[in-house]
Amino acid sequence: MTTPVYLDNNATTRCDEAVVEAMLPFFTEQFGNPSSMHAFGARVGGAVKAARAQLQRLIGAEFDHEIVFTAGGTESDNMAILSALEIDPNRDEIITSAVEHPAVLSLCGHLEKTRGIKVHVIPVDGQGLLDIAAYRAALSSKTAIVSIMWANNETGTIFPVAELAELAKEVGALFHTDAVQAVGKVPIDLKSTVIDMLSLSGHKLHGPKGIGALYVRRGTRFRSLIKGGHQERGRRAGTENTPGIVGLGKAAELAALHMADEETRVAALRDRLEKGLLQRIPACFVTGNPAERLPNTSNIAFEYIEGEGILLLMNREGIAASSGSACTSGSLEPSHVLRAMNIPYTAAHGAIRFSFSRDNTDADVDRVLEVMPGIIEKLRALSPFWQGADKAPATFAPVYA
Ligand code: PLP
Repeated sequence: MTTPVYLDNNATTRCDEAVVEAMLPFFTEQFGNPSSMHAFGARVGGAVKAARAQLQRLIGAEFDHEIVFTAGGTESDNMAILSALEIDPNRDEIITSAVEHPAVLSLCGHLEKTRGIKVHVIPVDGQGLLDIAAYRAALSSKTAIVSIMWANNETGTIFPVAELAELAKEVGALFHTDAVQAVGKVPIDLKSTVIDMLSLSGHKLHGPKGIGALYVRRGTRFRSLIKGGHQERGRRAGTENTPGIVGLGKAAELAALHMADEETRVAALRDRLEKGLLQRIPACFVTGNPAERLPNTSNIAFEYIEGEGILLLMNREGIAASSGSACTSGSLEPSHVLRAMNIPYTAAHGAIRFSFSRDNTDADVDRVLEVMPGIIEKLRALSPFWQGADKAPATFAPVYA
């Protein structure tokens, strides 16, 4: 039997053994409530404080109390946006991008529909880069918050969030970034920026699921989404998920140690996979911006076939990756990210995201290169679109106007 190959690390990562080890005592011996006055609580309180400092270091926050623990990326995104709308009644507009995660986009859609909030959705170009002119034009004294992701989960494209935040400040708006895919993969130093809030999630960086954090810059006005006790300085009520917090802290410490590896070894694996696939398979191309992107992500569009078929056959070979398609009312819709980039349907339908982590090896790349040409050929033999297609040679990230 062949060893399974996991290349879906942007969906979730394997929890590191050292993370699990760090967490375990907090289910049993160290079970105290960190808010308690006695020794049981104090010991756990110390561990929560240590985890906050580990996270603070990873994202370059100036103060540890700028970290608010949450139940994950989705909650952090919701908290940031909903808080901003409560700060100033004269500011009731949101600016976001067309390629955000549903944690931001579906909330914005809901707010537009139910509360009449004006949402400016800034378009991107064929490589997924933000239309800066449209962004500047949308900023105004009505803007409550800008929420633009640090890096895209499907293509890996990185946004110039530090500069975008500076522009938001010029009109007095809050700036939030969903950095769920960036934290632990690329260096982040928040104290050298004017970013007000940042979301991150444990399970994307070899930590546990159901734990995340929202960075809230000191001095940023904030309204808690979850009302209750005084935990997290009143910013997120509810007894803390102490094993999760300790695990996230450990994951942050390990991510900092492995960052250089991610940027070189992991990027080299990714590049070898791309080069190998483009050489072996006709009519496919890499989507996103080749320079401004995460070191671990590759999104490749195989033209004239459907991603679901590709994933199914890959799965039979023990290879896990993903497609951005969503099944809407029985028909497979290509990903909103690729559609926003104006990638033709015939290519967007066949897009596959390969996302690496520090667990991947050269053998994983060899295995994918061995089986992918056969899979694509098999599916294309069944595709009426492929029969009449122009079999263009492989290209790298073409720009569709
Ligand atoms: N934001 C981005 C960019 C993501 O990729 C994800 C997860 O896929 C989330 C938010 C949601 O994070 P969580 O699963 O922790 O709620």
